[in-house]
Amino acid sequence: MSYLEIDGAMGEGGGQVLRTALALSICTGKPFRITQIRAGRKKPGLQRQHLTAVQAARDISAAQVEGDKMGSTTLSFVPGEIWPGKYHFAVGTAGSTTLVLQTVLYPLLLAKEESHLTLTGGTHNSFAPPYDFLAHAFLPILGRMGPQVTATIERYGFYPAGGGQLTVHITPTGQLNGLSLTERSEMVACQAQALITGIPEHVAYRELERVAKKLKWSQECLHFCPLPSDQGPGNVLLLIVASEHVTEVFTGFAKRGVRAETVADGAIKKVKDYLAAEVPVGEYLADQLLLPMALAGEGEFITIAPSRHTSTNIEVIQKFLTVPIKQTQLTKKAWLIHVGQ
Ligand code: ATP
Repeated sequence: MSYLEIDGAMGEGGGQVLRTALALSICTGKPFRITQIRAGRKKPGLQRQHLTAVQAARDISAAQVEGDKMGSTTLSFVPGEIWPGKYHFAVGTAGSTTLVLQTVLYPLLLAKEESHLTLTGGTHNSFAPPYDFLAHAFLPILGRMGPQVTATIERYGFYPAGGGQLTVHITPTGQLNGLSLTERSEMVACQAQALITGIPEHVAYRELERVAKKLKWSQECLHFCPLPSDQGPGNVLLLIVASEHVTEVFTGFAKRGVRAETVADGAIKKVKDYLAAEVPVGEYLADQLLLPMALAGEGEFITIAPSRHTSTNIEVIQKFLTVPIKQTQLTKKAWLIHVGQ
């Protein structure tokens, strides 16, 4: 059997290399072997979130897998037929449920029937898409490419307790359509949500005060959101910017020993940079839109300077698909990413 060889240390050298390879292997039917999994991370190899993603990919495609163990730095994956249906994927720790979804979403989108997923683990993790990003930013754009995917949060899950739960319903489409996202246009609405549980409430109020002061968002845009006490402890500040053509979500994750004002300032800076760049697509949407556009065979968007996640994702995609992906700098702050001829 011939395998595509993937070097897990390429570019960013994180979990995304593996997830993109799994998704595209199933979509294209091409087996792959990956070495040096997550070599760029302090604790390399498969951790719980990545192992759950591998097992989920195996389950939906009846794949033959070798190396699917905790800590493994090599893996071979031979996909079979895609099996849509009802699945429950449990990370078992606070590892990100949305990243497990990233792995199985595309094969299930291209399947012949609907799927219904329950994912348990973390729903609001640093360095991963929070549920709200999925619901407000990513899925509405994906919907414009053809499929219908709805996500619902049943329970919140923060690091380190986990225990969160999402359900995702996928109505597939035979073929994804391309999409052009080159304009943001005016901001039509904004919202700051300070989610909090098991942490003194003044932390959330201070985050919202900071948003009012630095972004000048009015009181009706600021929402104090207490969560059930058994779903924490946790605190996250979500800044949602809805423009005419796209909605973006920026996040500040609370960390022990970091002041509420500092957490808020991090998220506020992301909003300011995004608005100043006058682009529709922010850093994280950029690397996440590549896969659906590449599968569609066409698409384009304007974004800020591409992150390493973006350039690495392009490299992995081009191992599996022949579709060209071009990055062109348009201005000091804006780049065009064009997928297709
Ligand atoms: P590792 O543990 O190896 O760092 P990982 O599996 O946690 O890796 P990465 O390879 O770093 O993940 O990929 C993280 C993914 O999460 C990227 O697709 C990135 O766009 C997305 N992401 C990170 N932070 C956010 C955020 N605040 N909002 C939306 N998406 C995010």
